[in-house]
Amino acid sequence: MEPNAQAIVNYYRENFRPQLLNDVKVSLTSANAISVDDGTIFLGENEGNISLLTRAVDKHIVVCGITKIVPTVIDALIITKIQERINNVSFRYISLISGPSNTSDIQGKQVQGMYGAKEVVVILVDDWRVKAKEENLLYKDFLKCISCKSCIYLCTAFRAFGNLYASKYGIGGPMIVRDYIHNGIEATVKDGLFFCTGCENCTNWCPAGVDLAQIIKDLKKEACKEGLCPPTLKKYQEKIIKEKNPFK
Ligand code: SF4
Ligand code: SF4
Repeated sequence: MEPNAQAIVNYYRENFRPQLLNDVKVSLTSANAISVDDGTIFLGENEGNISLLTRAVDKHIVVCGITKIVPTVIDALIITKIQERINNVSFRYISLISGPSNTSDIQGKQVQGMYGAKEVVVILVDDWRVKAKEENLLYKDFLKCISCKSCIYLCTAFRAFGNLYASKYGIGGPMIVRDYIHNGIEATVKDGLFFCTGCENCTNWCPAGVDLAQIIKDLKKEACKEGLCPPTLKKYQEKIIKEKNPFK
């Protein structure tokens, strides 16, 4: 095979596509959004094989957080398009899936699974979400996050420190908050919590109105209370308290 992109694509089409179309029985995806209106699942696809995978199989399983649920089909479309624009990708397909494939063309009988999946299963994950709202937790605002990443591209800490401002879930402030939710304050300090400059670019540019800068500020406060403030900053803190001047 020639070592170029077109040759690799050709090889894939000849060798794996038939297998995908005939032998794969179950597919697993997330969702960009799900509308309450009629349960339509929105799936954007810039590369990869989502539309093929969701149709060629017997069973399509969707696993996503409950925060992906929005009131209407129009809201779901807007969120999917925002994710596309801000991530600077081009969705070549957007799939709207409202249930299993269905036909009544044969003897007027309704049969499922003629062209696409016979079964569509949606698994909604709550995890931390309802608790965050009911207990008014400091990261409650994060429930509005649509994972568009625009706060990451404009984050001064991420631009200065790159992958050092990140958690095991991914890069930037939102993933550091996620680490806090699952693993507590110590984990976020190790992720570089104190690299945050407090510039507030994240809050100012968030299309969903998440006040990420405030969440990060609250995490810093909690870290300081727990005695996890980095020693250099501690030195400045003491100077501010004693001398009212960090540089004295
Ligand atoms: S916090 Fe806002 S800007 Fe950042 S990923 Fe979530 S929705 Fe996008
Ligand atoms: S406030 Fe912190 S997390 Fe938000 S953009 Fe600035 S440096 Fe990044």
